[in-house]
Amino acid sequence: MENNCIFCKIANGEIPSATVYEDEDFRAILDLNPASKGHTLIIPKKHAANLFELPEETAEKVLSIAKKLGARLKEGLHAEGLNVVQNNGEAAGQTVMHFHMHLIPRYNNDTVNVKWVPGTLTEDDKKEILGLF
Ligand code: 5GP
Ligand code: ZN
Repeated sequence: MENNCIFCKIANGEIPSATVYEDEDFRAILDLNPASKGHTLIIPKKHAANLFELPEETAEKVLSIAKKLGARLKEGLHAEGLNVVQNNGEAAGQTVMHFHMHLIPRYNNDTVNVKWVPGTLTEDDKKEILGLF
């Protein structure tokens, strides 16, 4: 557990939360300031600041939990869609520096905004990026 990390305290039950799921490694809670009805956060109990610090084993488990909880939320709340969002770093909009995955149920004509302006893949960028792998 990391000192003064709010999500360490929530995930480990030191601070109470509206918990929808818990196992040995994770707690999933309702977001206090939801983007939409049912906005849920999947939080590992062991501190990792972001995706890059997440142990491989935890990374593998998290999408399986997202699938299960996402399906329950979508069906139970009669949502029309679901966004899975996961921010890494301030530049990406991360505000709590303990890894978490957002499940955001989507409803026709809701006010959630996870859109960007589509760009164009240039030949130079393509070459540079393909060269990384
Ligand atoms: P981020 O921007 O880091 O990806 O997302 C942080 C999320 O955590 C936000 O959606 C915010 O509303 C939520 N959040 C921050 N503090 C608390 C808290 O103490 N309890 C709960 N349930 N959610 C929180
Ligand atoms: Zn933490």
